[in-house]
Amino acid sequence: AGICGTDLHIWHDKMVYWPPVIMGHEFSGQVVKVGKNVSHWKEKDKVVAEPHTKACGVCYLCRSGNIHICPHKKAIGWGINGAFAEYIKMPSYLLHRIPENLSYNEAALTEPLAITVNCVLLTAGVKAGDVVIIEGAGTIGLMAAMIAKIAGAEKVIVTGVTQDENLRLKKARELGFETVNVEKENLEEVVFSLTQGKGADLVVEAAGVENAVNTAIKITKRLGKIAILGITGEKKINVLWDEAVFKGLDVKFCFSSNFESWERALSFMSQRKVEVLPLITHTGTITQWKKIFGELERGEGIKGLFIF
Ligand SMILES: [Zn+2]
Ligand SMILES: [Zn+2]
Repeated sequence: AGICGTDLHIWHDKMVYWPPVIMGHEFSGQVVKVGKNVSHWKEKDKVVAEPHTKACGVCYLCRSGNIHICPHKKAIGWGINGAFAEYIKMPSYLLHRIPENLSYNEAALTEPLAITVNCVLLTAGVKAGDVVIIEGAGTIGLMAAMIAKIAGAEKVIVTGVTQDENLRLKKARELGFETVNVEKENLEEVVFSLTQGKGADLVVEAAGVENAVNTAIKITKRLGKIAILGITGEKKINVLWDEAVFKGLDVKFCFSSNFESWERALSFMSQRKVEVLPLITHTGTITQWKKIFGELERGEGIKGLFIF
């Protein structure tokens, strides 16, 4: 089971959740038992599952295939018992089969990868030849960079802060991306000189901080796109609203993942177009949670997994 930034938010009561509840919404595993009405899955099948439990099935969102954003949804890990456990009970319609050539550790990263596929590819529609700036070098930022690259982006730059320098930005460079430490370099200057004064085609905000949102508005080209993945944890932030209006920016807010993004995420991993294993910096047992949570929070890790 994967440890996500939202788990850290829950730890600090910075997110809505319904305790007592077992956390964890990213996982892979094997079917050990099927319900009596389930016909298309059997014991020992290797599966991952969309976390969209308790979606109502009757609202306009559910009826149009958007169960991930149903207002009645109570996801595993904060709404109902989740995946930081040896066993989990899931509705069969949320399962996806793990391709033969993927390990459980790789498959456990399907959920965050699906989020970036949904955002960068399906929602923001990254195009071949785009100059793409990814703000934030955590799991989601690095995955967003990978998706932009396989979609044919001409240049992908991942940004971070000094705290990210030793691990996250280093990892980004190892993965073949250029990096900018925004505390040491002027990102605006870098982007405008790279694009002959035009600005970036697409900026993906995966840092979840006010500064990054406003930098995105500054460095995106006129009529360019911003895709928002970050959650600030604040009630309100200050935004360069008028500048965004005058530039005619196309801002896409991304939330969660849909069916198609799961299928594509699994396919990209299976075809080896996207390699997620380099993102896993921590594996451990649930008893080590405090140490692992702390290290991930301090930026001393990228993706952590609990092994059961
Ligand atoms: Zn997550
Ligand atoms: Zn619904």
